[in-house]
Amino acid sequence: MKEQLLTRFQTVFGRAPEVVAQAPGRIEFIGNHTDYNAGTVLGASIDRGVWVGYAARTDGQRRFFSDLSGQILTLGEKDLAKQSGPASWANYPLGVLAALPVFELKTPGGFDFLAISNLPVGAGLSSSAALELASALVFLKATGQNPPRETVVKIGKHAENNFVGVPCGILDQGVSGFGLKNHLVFIDCRGPKFATVPLPAGAHFWIFNTHTKHALVDGLYAARHKECMEAAKALGVSALVEADLPKLEASKAKLSPTAYKRAKHVIEEIARVEQTNQALKVGDLKKVGQLLTASHRSSQTQFENSTPELDTLVDALVATPHVFGARLTGGGFGGAVMAMTDSTFSETQARQVAATYAKKYGSEPELLHCQTGDGAKVV
Ligand code: ADP
Ligand code: MG
Repeated sequence: MKEQLLTRFQTVFGRAPEVVAQAPGRIEFIGNHTDYNAGTVLGASIDRGVWVGYAARTDGQRRFFSDLSGQILTLGEKDLAKQSGPASWANYPLGVLAALPVFELKTPGGFDFLAISNLPVGAGLSSSAALELASALVFLKATGQNPPRETVVKIGKHAENNFVGVPCGILDQGVSGFGLKNHLVFIDCRGPKFATVPLPAGAHFWIFNTHTKHALVDGLYAARHKECMEAAKALGVSALVEADLPKLEASKAKLSPTAYKRAKHVIEEIARVEQTNQALKVGDLKKVGQLLTASHRSSQTQFENSTPELDTLVDALVATPHVFGARLTGGGFGGAVMAMTDSTFSETQARQVAATYAKKYGSEPELLHCQTGDGAKVV
């Protein structure tokens, strides 16, 4: 991909980039809706991502290009206006530029900027965080600054939350920033604190993107958030991470049946993240797979953020040989399912699962086979 970026940069801007950075997409491995409950989550950075090239200009112009829009956007050095229409992709690098001073970092002057990617957009693999982190790295390198990795991650999140306006948690940028090949990223959202955990050899990931999205997804997400906060309040804790099952059972009468189910999911899911850590430590991928599927079942019945489409995929996958486990990945209410398989799980088997889905829903999900990859870096 770096070769492709160099060629593309030469074609579009007629010269070579001075700095190139790459940032991976990510899979939410386990820990569903735990982040805003101050819980823990495991993610995997994957071997696909966004590549960004950068070269300084002396005329104060900032020129942005991405294969996604196919048009050069030219802005002045001080112009941080939010873009709309085909240029709206540039809000991610612009958001990063706007965030740098917030972290007391310098911004570059004029430049040529180009992004290419082998990550599907909007598939729940966080192409947006990959673009933010790759952008942050080229801007920082070009201005001779090297802040701690935590800061780079926070710059990406700040851009997405405040400039783009998406209230995502720390998972996306944290995993893209702290990822490591053959590892998972463990995030304790209190802090937040980041660590890498070895992934036993032989684990492969398959993503089945349904391209479905619940029409009310934003409202549903907000409703879950509210229900969790209500449950925490009724339990007398500042966040659900501080509750446990005995406490929940003791206070059951104080909670609406819905808030009870949501809280039970979050409490059990945080426990599953810990059990997954233990199983990973002893290399038990079978156990890890069972936990992944249990996470999905909890989303299906207790958190109610699954859909019949996602359930169909999970049901077909767990009935297929060489699949350790499967679950919805990301916020839910549509989107993608991920399966962790052994290395002998084949494309033919994946296609069979896709065909089972197509029989019911008319079209095949998009298929993506990936493994872990390194986190964001200058390349
Ligand atoms: P996800 O992060 O799950 O892929 P989002 O909607 O959060 O989905 O982010 C997708 C958006 O990120 C795209 O609509 C586009 O604006 C931007 N983006 C992602 N990859 C690229 C790219 N290679 N070039 C330009 N913009 C990109
Ligand atoms: Mg995103």
